[in-house]
Amino acid sequence: MRLIIKNISNLVTCAGEGIKKGKEQRDAKIIENGYVIVNNDIIEELGSGEDFKKFIDKNTILIEGKGKTVTPGLVDPHTHVVYSGSRENELPLKLNKVSYIDILKAGGGILSTVENTRKTAEADLFNESKKRLDTMLLHGTTTIESKSGYGLNFKDEVKILQVNRMLGSRHPIDVVSTYLGAHAVPAEFKDDREGYINLMINKVIPYVAEKKLAEFIDCFLEEGVFNLDEAERILKMGRKCGLKLKVHADEIVSVKGAELSGKLKATSAEHLVAISEAGIREMAENNVIAVLLPSTSFYLMLNKFAPARKMIDENLAVALATDCNPGTSPTENLQNVMTYACFGMGLLPEEIINAVTINAAYAVGRGDKIGSIENGKKADLVIFNSKNLNYLIYHFGVNAVDKVIKNGKIAVENNQIKEEAYA
Ligand SMILES: [Zn+2]
Repeated sequence: MRLIIKNISNLVTCAGEGIKKGKEQRDAKIIENGYVIVNNDIIEELGSGEDFKKFIDKNTILIEGKGKTVTPGLVDPHTHVVYSGSRENELPLKLNKVSYIDILKAGGGILSTVENTRKTAEADLFNESKKRLDTMLLHGTTTIESKSGYGLNFKDEVKILQVNRMLGSRHPIDVVSTYLGAHAVPAEFKDDREGYINLMINKVIPYVAEKKLAEFIDCFLEEGVFNLDEAERILKMGRKCGLKLKVHADEIVSVKGAELSGKLKATSAEHLVAISEAGIREMAENNVIAVLLPSTSFYLMLNKFAPARKMIDENLAVALATDCNPGTSPTENLQNVMTYACFGMGLLPEEIINAVTINAAYAVGRGDKIGSIENGKKADLVIFNSKNLNYLIYHFGVNAVDKVIKNGKIAVENNQIKEEAYA
């Protein structure tokens, strides 16, 4: 069964030699008047002009691409999408300049979401999270990474990771699961940090790895959360058990998180608003991907974004993510993040689209299968109501999706998810 998108005004392939570092990130390999041929769930062919015609038979679905921009399905490489409740009650505190860390110290922030998430049964947690994935898909996201970290004990962390697994198998979006038990120290271990770290190292991490409930392990390395030595111990245990590494690093204060990600040769370091010069060098030397979260900077009112321009100039590969979470970035919309990356960080449209497709795919360990439009890759595509890539970034604050193709099938059309997309 073939599906052909023809006469595409801007076919943004993000193709090339894999991950796009430094200057390479500026080239998204755009084809004008392009076509893409999808055969079942695989990209069979692409090009420009009329050559697609020879592939047409009586069963072919033809989609008009004139006036549209087509990109790879968007990949959101850093989310905390599985949680219960919301935290709009923190808004007045934020406006009174109470800091994130002070809200956390007072038992709010992450810990209030932990309380809600622990109380919520697995099936309800699945339903709440599924709605967020629906919103993501409607905005063009076809693969996400999803972190645990609102359970902070054995039972509830496992429950969240099981919800990740259920979402991955039942929802059209593909889900890459990350264990983030080291998201905060839970209230019951407030006076016994070492006890909580030992629980993770001796019990939770080996279990999660053995049951294949996660592919990655992450740690929130930040002043007032986990320190450098603790993070290193936790991440090393994860690696020993076969998990790949991510680090929440240098979000608010520089605590040498980027340096640690280089030392441990992590797949990615994430946030990095306060990254040091040495941290940038360490990451570049060790091929660590920078996953940046500009909507979080905006939402925390930091008046500061991660130095994305400098990172690219220093030959790093930059990816972008929503950080979808109830406290510091309650949004599922990666298109908004693209706007912040342009107007907040000064990235170019081509750098931005590579950051939410091919580089994001590498950040979740899927760069060989998704993230670009190339022969043999999985047919995850977005058709945007934008006459070119620049227009997609220029016309902001609206959902520009016309259609989403997931696994070779139309999953979103007319702002709705098709029932058969769940099959
Ligand atoms: Zn995060």
